[in-house]
Amino acid sequence: MSGGDMAKPLLGHGSMEGDSSITPAAGRTIGVLGSGDFARSLAIRLVCSGFKVVVGSRNPKRKAGLFPSAAEVTFQAEAVKRTDVIFVAVFREHYSTLCDLADVLVGKILVDVSNNTEINHHKESNAEYLASLFPACTVVKGFNVVSAWTLQSGARDGNKQVLICSNSQEAKRTIAEIAQVMGFTPVDMGCMASAREIENIPLRLLPAWKIPIFLALGLFLCFFTYNLIRQVIHPYIREQKNKLYKIPIEVVNTTLPCVSYVMLSLVYLPGVLAACSQLYYGTKYRRFPDWLDQWLQHRKQIGLLSFFCAALHAVYSLCLPMRRSHRYQLIEMAVKQVVEKKMNIWVEEEVWRMEIYISVGIIALGLLSLLAITSLPSIANSLNWREFSFVQSTLGFVALVISTLHTLTYGWSRAFDENQYKFYLPPTYTLTLLVPCTVILAKIIFCLPCIQQRLLRIRRGWEKGRYVKFVLPSATGEYASGETSSNV
Ligand code: NAP
Repeated sequence: MSGGDMAKPLLGHGSMEGDSSITPAAGRTIGVLGSGDFARSLAIRLVCSGFKVVVGSRNPKRKAGLFPSAAEVTFQAEAVKRTDVIFVAVFREHYSTLCDLADVLVGKILVDVSNNTEINHHKESNAEYLASLFPACTVVKGFNVVSAWTLQSGARDGNKQVLICSNSQEAKRTIAEIAQVMGFTPVDMGCMASAREIENIPLRLLPAWKIPIFLALGLFLCFFTYNLIRQVIHPYIREQKNKLYKIPIEVVNTTLPCVSYVMLSLVYLPGVLAACSQLYYGTKYRRFPDWLDQWLQHRKQIGLLSFFCAALHAVYSLCLPMRRSHRYQLIEMAVKQVVEKKMNIWVEEEVWRMEIYISVGIIALGLLSLLAITSLPSIANSLNWREFSFVQSTLGFVALVISTLHTLTYGWSRAFDENQYKFYLPPTYTLTLLVPCTVILAKIIFCLPCIQQRLLRIRRGWEKGRYVKFVLPSATGEYASGETSSNV
């Protein structure tokens, strides 16, 4: 596995939840150095969790009013003397100002909660720097991935994981125990060398979303340019008509469904390619190329972006009649009909096309919403594997088929109308059909019994050209065993 979210799993190291060696902690005194936002939220949470809290400030008189009455606010040295576990809620730049406390800190556990402003900002992590300033203390890195807000609102409303690392197992266990009593899930990230990785986590900006977002933007740009040429530039050049007003709504609204539809097909295309690779090589044990691996890992984000574009398309479409340009066009049409003395303008085929087109579109959006909702971790965790696979795989594919119907009813017979080919460019929807139809066709081919059986066998571990041990039930109900070539 390479790159992406999975390369750095939050739970990649052992979760410390339910560690039987952990002893009860509530009731012990915890020290907090600093009286800022984080220190205040931490003190509130510790007090609520049953700890005694002593806060060390450079100016306790001024800061005492900011803390709950149950927390004692005193001078730094005084606070440090009263406890063995001290959270250092001070920025790295000010660590050196704490050096006067070195004597009273000897043998104590210091919890470094600090974050940086840039990834890999300093040569050594903040926790390692703190440990170098206080060699007689045991430093534990932790709690930096939770915000002051999460601490105050309680673990239920925010990120529940607290990543912890230290060179001392015992100190780590003590902090894990405190985290657990506070309602968090401590995750052991190993020794102090992991501190840099833990410090980088809050600074990463949507690492799993970069590729899908660039993909969506790329598709948007391509389709937008294509639609702009067809809807604005073509009428300007050919008929000297100024249709620039179409850009903010009409061009965007014809672009969004294209992006959404193609993105949805790109969720299922890597699965098709993976199946082709497995069928071709006759094994599931061969590693997929890196690009396919990455693609498979980003399917959730691609699907969510597809839903996002579809939702925007629905809102834009609902707003179409609100536009002044639309009202002018309606009035113009009505006047034209009066002038031409046309009484009946009902076109049965157009009416049916529109009814089916809208209905199918609503169903497709509904299914996409379902897919998006079930991909949320809290919902996904409540589904078993079969339910999840049914929604994401089967219903997802149904959504793709219904989206294809939506696109086809939109196009209807216009693909065969030569007036629709502006500058010889075919209507946009015909282009969007290419990838989804390939995926649908491939899926249908995979359903053919001869291919489906082979694929199923491969996915259960069968390999082409490998001799495998087989066990067959005999007529008497006993089992006969032997060896055979699996590709026979
Ligand atoms: P803050 O509001 O600016 O508080 C920092 C505190 O440090 C001050 O209130 C001050 O308390 C104390 N301090 C000690 N020596 C100092 C000195 N020489 N100069 C200035 N201040 C000194 O910052 P914060 O938001 O609470 O953040 C504190 C630490 O928590 C940082 O390392 C930050 O990266 C980390 N953190 C914060 C959050 C968050 O959501 N805010 C989340 C994760 C991690 P006294 O004046 O009472 O001494």
